[in-house]
Amino acid sequence: MTNNTYLEIADNLLKSEKILIFPHENMDGDCLGSAAALCQMMRNSGKEAYVVADGKTPRNLDFLESGTLTSNKDVFNEYDLAVLVDCGSRSRIGDRAAVFDRGRVKAVIDHHGVSEQDTAFDFGVIEPSSAATAELVYLIAKEMGVEITLPIARCVFAAINTDTGSFQHSNTTARTHVIVSELYDIDGFDGNEITQLLYNRQSLGSIQLEGRVISGMKVCAGGKLAIGAVTRQLLDETDTDMSESEGIVQKLMSIDGVEIGCILKETDANTVRVSLRAKSYANVARVAQSYGGGGHVRAAGFTFEGTVDEAVVDVSRALEAELDRANDEK
Ligand code: 5GP
Ligand code: MN
Ligand code: MN
Repeated sequence: MTNNTYLEIADNLLKSEKILIFPHENMDGDCLGSAAALCQMMRNSGKEAYVVADGKTPRNLDFLESGTLTSNKDVFNEYDLAVLVDCGSRSRIGDRAAVFDRGRVKAVIDHHGVSEQDTAFDFGVIEPSSAATAELVYLIAKEMGVEITLPIARCVFAAINTDTGSFQHSNTTARTHVIVSELYDIDGFDGNEITQLLYNRQSLGSIQLEGRVISGMKVCAGGKLAIGAVTRQLLDETDTDMSESEGIVQKLMSIDGVEIGCILKETDANTVRVSLRAKSYANVARVAQSYGGGGHVRAAGFTFEGTVDEAVVDVSRALEAELDRANDEK
């Protein structure tokens, strides 16, 4: 698929009457914020629209959905347009792929450079240089001429804030700041309030979990690689669920000298979700891709079939090789 302009996407979206929007699994601020913003834009344009998500909404994101999420199977049968947001492949939406396939027209709005190539789209945009999918949703909204209401602005801000690590990551651009500055013009918009909702409502258990994962982490490759594991046992002992482990990988990145941070999340006895981050020169999308996953150059992920112990050995080896390769390319 070649990218459409934002105006073409706006026009194409408005050609449909009933729209289902699909954020990726293990919801984050960008996929939920983008999906909920797009859904409200479509509803405010007189369309029937729903966000079809699965899994629990992480508790720090509970203020974003504004009645857009549905699990009502009756709406899934007949509809016009299926839109994938913040992912470029139907393999990222799990069992919902069957519902996605029922859309007469398929679209994508995404910013991942590396995705599984298993889905054909009729229109859309995949823009890896965009800090967040929500930037694209916002620019499409402006072309559509729909009002950026306060709930939409809150979604866009939360999505950009989370995907840029509060404007710290290398994906942050001048455009990111321009878009955010426009949000501050919207009546009632309070950036600080959203930041408090996103970051300062963590459970005590999640902070204890973070401490336990960090005390158990392994630092290797001469201090360039930090790798930690969130096991089912640690979740039990701290009374937390996996969605509360989201921010831990960022803590590993804050260690001086660490180039790659890796968190292994034990989903079940034989499945580990792997979260990868790089600071300035390593390409973790390349590693994720070699395991059948994908993502961005500096933030990527994949699923490892095996135990956590096996993952530690296997994934560290792959990441050390990536550090060597990236060093040679420097
Ligand atoms: P996270 O570590 O936050 O789960 O994911 C980091 C980035 O990589 C996100 O942008 C996420 O969408 C992407 N990602 C994570 N897992 C996968 C995967 O299995 N396949 C693909 N294509 N992307 C992934
Ligand atoms: Mn995402
Ligand atoms: Mn994103």
